Parts: sequence; C-alpha cells; structure tokens
Amino acid sequence: MPSAIVIGGGLAGLASAAALGQAGFQVHVFEARGFLGGRATSYPVPGDNSEVIDNCQHVLLRCCVNLMDFYGRLGVADRIQFHKKFYFIEPGGRTSILEAGALPAPLHFTGSFWKLPFLGMSDKIGIARAMWSIRREHGRRRDLDRITMLDWLREKRQTETAIGRFWNQVLVSAVNEDLDRMAASHGFQVFWLGFLARANAYQMGIPSVPLGDLYSSEALQRIGNVRLHLREPVEQIVVENGVIRGVLAAGERHTADYYISTVPFERMPALFPQLQLDLAGFEHSPITGIHLWFDRSLTQLPHATLLDRTIQWMFNKSGGRYLQLVVSASRSLAEMPRAEVIAMAMRDLAEFFPRAKEAKIEKAHVVKEIRATFSARPGLEQLRPASATKFPNLFLAGDWTRTGWPPIMEGAVRSGYLAAEAVSRSAGQEREFLLPDIA
Ligand SMILES: Cc1cc2nc3c(=O)[nH]c(=O)nc-3n(C[C@H](O)[C@H](O)[C@H](O)COP(=O)(O)OP(=O)(O)OC[C@H]3O[C@@H](n4cnc5c(N)ncnc54)[C@H](O)[C@@H]3O)c2cc1C
Repeated sequence: MPSAIVIGGGLAGLASAAALGQAGFQVHVFEARGFLGGRATSYPVPGDNSEVIDNCQHVLLRCCVNLMDFYGRLGVADRIQFHKKFYFIEPGGRTSILEAGALPAPLHFTGSFWKLPFLGMSDKIGIARAMWSIRREHGRRRDLDRITMLDWLREKRQTETAIGRFWNQVLVSAVNEDLDRMAASHGFQVFWLGFLARANAYQMGIPSVPLGDLYSSEALQRIGNVRLHLREPVEQIVVENGVIRGVLAAGERHTADYYISTVPFERMPALFPQLQLDLAGFEHSPITGIHLWFDRSLTQLPHATLLDRTIQWMFNKSGGRYLQLVVSASRSLAEMPRAEVIAMAMRDLAEFFPRAKEAKIEKAHVVKEIRATFSARPGLEQLRPASATKFPNLFLAGDWTRTGWPPIMEGAVRSGYLAAEAVSRSAGQEREFLLPDIA
C-alpha cells in the first residue's frame, strides 16, 4: 500500500487525506493543534466551556461542488442547510429579499431583482448590463487578473449605489477583499458560477452544527487508512539526494512514499527553505467575527446582509438571542480595542433591529483573524504555486496555492484534491478526485 504524510489538518489537508485514504493509500495527517479544521474550526468560548463557537461563521454556495463532495466523503453533507433567500437590510430596517423565481438561469433572479427596494432603477439597469458583460467576457477577456474589480465596475459605469450596496456587499464577503484591491477575475468567478450559471447555484449553505463537528476524528477514521497525529507539528523536513526522506515531528522521524504540505503560506519559508518560494507578493486580509449573546431575541431572520455600515453580515445562531456578526477585509478594526468593536456593533445593530436598543448583552466575544486569508489582489494568480515542487515526492496544497479560486473553503478542498491527484499520478494510479465546475 503506498503511503503519504499530510502536513496540516485544515480543509486542504483533510480533503487530500480523505481522497487518498479512500483510494487505498495509507495516510498520516500531522496537525500542530489539538483539533482539526485549521482556519475553519470551532472551540469553546474562552472562559466558558459550556458554549462551542465557530471562529467565524463559514458559509458556502451550492456551486462549491468539491467542498460538498468532501463533506460527502465524511458523511456530513446533510449537516449543511441551504437557504434560498438573501435578505438585504437598510439602516432603518427596510428588508429586501433576493431569491430565484421560476425562470431558468441566467434569468432566475428577474422577478425579485427588479423589485429590490434598496436599489433604484438606474442602479438595476446598470447591474443587469454588467451581468451580461460577465457572461460575454468570462473566459475570453485576458486582463481580468491584472485589473481590480473596482476598475472593471467603473469601466461598466456602475452607479455608486450599485457598487456600494450590491457589488461590494456580495463580493467583499465572498473574496475577503475590498473591491479596489481584489482581482476582477475573482469577482467574475463569484458571479459567473454563483449567480449566473445555474438557478440554484447561489443558495447559501450554512452548517447546522459547529464547524469542528463536520470533520471529527471519528468521521476521518471511518474512511479507513487515515491516521491522525494531533498536537504534532512537523518541525523539519529531511531531504536527501533531492528527495524528501521524512519529517521530524515531536522528536521522531516519520517516513512515507509521498508528502503533501498544506501549511499556510507564511509558514512555508521556515518549514521548506529549500523550495525558495517567491512569496513577496502575498499579503494577508483580516476578518473579524463578533459574537453577541442578548437577554432577548433581536430578529427571527436566519441571516441578513446589513447595508451601508461596518457590520456586513448577521447570522442568527439561536432564536435571535445569539448573533454572529462578520466584517470581512476588516483592516479598520485591526487596531480597535475589543470593547470599541462591541460598541460599534451595538450601534450598527440598533439601526437594523429596533429591539437592539433595549437589549442587554449577556456575553460577547470578538475574534480578530488578522491572518484570515491571502489578499486576492491583481497579479497574484501567477505567483500562486502549483502542487508539484522541485522534489518529486513533495506536493503543495492550501487555499493560497494555484486553484484559480479565491481564498475560501472550496479553494482549499480543490487544492487538496489536486495534490492528491498528483500523488496518485506519481504512484501510477491516475485517480481523479477533482469535480469540474458547474459551468
Ligand atoms: C475568520 C474567517 C472566516 C472565513 N469565512 C469563510 C467563509 O465563510 N467561507 C469560506 O469558504 N471560507 C471562509 N474562510 C476561509 C477558509 O477558512 C480557508 O480558506 C480554509 O479554511 C483554508 O484551509 P487550508 O487547509 O488551506 O488552511 P488552514 O485551515 O490554515 O490549515 C492549515 C493547517 O496546518 C496546520 N499547521 C501549520 N503548521 C504546521 C506544522 N508545522 N505541522 C503541522 N501542522 C501545521 C495549522 O494548524 C492548520 O490546521 C474564512 C477564514 C477565516 C479565517
């Protein structure tokens, strides 16, 4: 049985381990921390072991077919609940709903889109024109990785309201970057696959359990052939005669036929100095999650995107009394003391949910993920390394490697499947794990 060592138990590592394990490889996963999931994980609230929270609400769209395939391998696909309505709320509380109607794609939003009260007629006509441009230019236009999404929107003469309330609202959360820093290719990807390709592709999947429960050790062990080594960071790589001969973890040497590294890009120079990767173009983009528990229910909506303020998304985690708020590309909050972040969130909430004015906070927790994802800026795609390396038995994965996708869970799983395919090819098996895009 060929063997593989996977470094890192985040989504990329677990996806490659699950694929190779099911293909008959003996796989060992080394994870530095005591739990799985990497940046998409959950843990007890500090100081209150009774409550487990996600580091931040993670959502997916139905077009994320490889992520769903991975959940299927773990037997947890039914724990993702898909929502067909997007709620946009304006300060003052007026709520608009975007949902697919009876028409086939790409016309499926026609009914609800033209009725959205938070956009004017000229905003909507401009957005509709831009959507047709995405259909026309997708796969044809060559400069989309060199210009920002904002450049492209200006070229398409989008109104300020359309940019602020529609494009910005959808894309900053989806790509975790501001429009003036985000490569247009990523904005295209989100709208092409998520909004235009199929009538149900936009549906938002939200896990019904804490993230950590999706990839429990038991689920992975059920796959067979996958052995987990938690709290065993790989400290060093052993290279002999141009081939990886082992890894050192917890003072022991472990060997395998193949090695897959899925550590984040900032860890690469220390762990793999031999690769001399050019990572100068990589920067981080932060995400802030704000968890608030109230003495009363603030809303019955399951989730909503909040317009024109700092908080971008609200997720209702428990009857309107526990809300999880998300700010993507949250550079403005990086230095802000936590008490101020909570005060800002309360001011914002009071404008959208009147009950917030009287509500008392029972508990609050702010998670600032300064290294949440890489910044998906123009010109980066060509710097993202492919899975093959100069060592014939070492492969790279992770959301930052070259998948063409923004830094999201689907990209991480894709990178894991690509690395597993490369391993399988090297072992003479030619297995395919990656599912093609829906369009
Ligand atoms: C706050 C936040 C919100 C997000 N929201 C969303 C969302 O809504 N939707 C979405 O699709 N994506 C979202 N993302 C992005 C998503 O979480 C990531 O793209 C994905 O989890 C990356 O997976 P990965 O396996 O590539 O990397 P990681 O999750 O970083 O995994 C790498 C693993 O390697 C381990 N490691 C590092 N060094 C070593 C070592 N020496 N030895 C052993 N192990 C090591 C780490 O502990 C880690 O577990 C969000 C990210 C954050 C931070």
